[in-house]
Amino acid sequence: MKVILEARDVRYRYPRGMEAIKGISFHMRRGEKIALVGPNGAGKSTLLQMFNGMIRPTSGTMLFDNEPIRYDISSLRQLRKRVGYVLQNADRQIIAPTVYQDVAFGPVNLGYDDQAVREAVATALRHVGLVGFERRPPHQLSGGEKKRVAIAGVLAMDPDVLVFDEPTSGLDPSGSEDLMELLDELNHNGKTIVISTHDVELAYPWAERAILLLDGQIIREDVPDVAFGNTKYVRMAHLSVPTLLELSAELGKRGFMIPERKPRSVLDMVHIIENQLRKPYTPPAPGTITVCNVDERETSSLPGWLKARPGIAVGAMGTRAKQCAATECIALEFTYGVIDKCLLRALRGQDSLILTTGSMVGRVAARVEAYGKESGNAISVVNLNTTNPFPAPGHMDVEVSQNDLTSTKL
Ligand code: ADP
Repeated sequence: MKVILEARDVRYRYPRGMEAIKGISFHMRRGEKIALVGPNGAGKSTLLQMFNGMIRPTSGTMLFDNEPIRYDISSLRQLRKRVGYVLQNADRQIIAPTVYQDVAFGPVNLGYDDQAVREAVATALRHVGLVGFERRPPHQLSGGEKKRVAIAGVLAMDPDVLVFDEPTSGLDPSGSEDLMELLDELNHNGKTIVISTHDVELAYPWAERAILLLDGQIIREDVPDVAFGNTKYVRMAHLSVPTLLELSAELGKRGFMIPERKPRSVLDMVHIIENQLRKPYTPPAPGTITVCNVDERETSSLPGWLKARPGIAVGAMGTRAKQCAATECIALEFTYGVIDKCLLRALRGQDSLILTTGSMVGRVAARVEAYGKESGNAISVVNLNTTNPFPAPGHMDVEVSQNDLTSTKL
């Protein structure tokens, strides 16, 4: 596919501000669906605004259709006809008193005659499903409808590329789904689409390519299952692994056959599970979850304890537990959703240690107990504070004092 937009080592520093884009190169092919994903402040909006010349790089070159973008008024006008930009906040994009006038604004500015303006507006409104809204004042519309008006305003100029800054922000879940469907439809009709988002669940099934942005730089660029599948980069970008991808990785660890193309939808996932259900499965003996209250124990012995148990993974819940891990140079495998992640390990026959404090110790026991009752899977929780701190590996003291709420043999 032909390259339509390209960035060559672009940098941008806001006047009297910090450098927001620090040397980015990439290209976008005609017809692609790209998600620019990163936390707040990563530089997504700044980069997107370079695509239609709203921001001129401090250094480096932006190219459209293999030609360097020029920043004189007439070139920018041409560029903005071909690269449409939909702002995050539709209220800032909609300026006219009626839907018709707003959508007509671009074509009128481009000098279309009346007939061409009417046709452009009618086509754009049809695309976004707002036929009949022509006379409505935009401020009386719902968030989703306003977003569609803003999109129609851009579509009316029939651009090749559509750029959406956080397209679903402010929309409810069903409005977001409708909007993503509209983006798919537009893409199906030949538009190249790039969105910025920090919502991995939204970007993962939708995008053909994901670009992970952090601190003004691209840290990863690939097909979504690869880009989002590497926990190291996902964490680095303050994101989380999409649920479908996490689930497929978990099933893969249990011997499920996961196709090379990872599941992108519930349908894909059901197919994987159904295939596996036809094969017999013998679960391993469950692993143990050990809990340590770092406020009530001398933690300097933990590294030694862990060293004696090479296969064990460590999770930390709460700030003090995470600080303790850092002080003792303990590598953390889990820092969120810790109890469930340790439960999943236990079901694979692997042990884990949870560092935590105070009442959270009881919460671990309660969650494991509740899971055990629901599923019939007996998983042991050992309280390291009430057991011999140095039992030999393999001789873990799993059934501890009956009165100890934090020790559960289910
Ligand atoms: P994102 O869209 O990923 O949240 P932005 O592109 O909005 O990130 O911002 C990138 C960085 O540039 C941030 O540190 C932000 O504070 C800074 N920034 C954004 N807009 C301006 C501005 N108008 N003036 C100065 N700094 C800005």
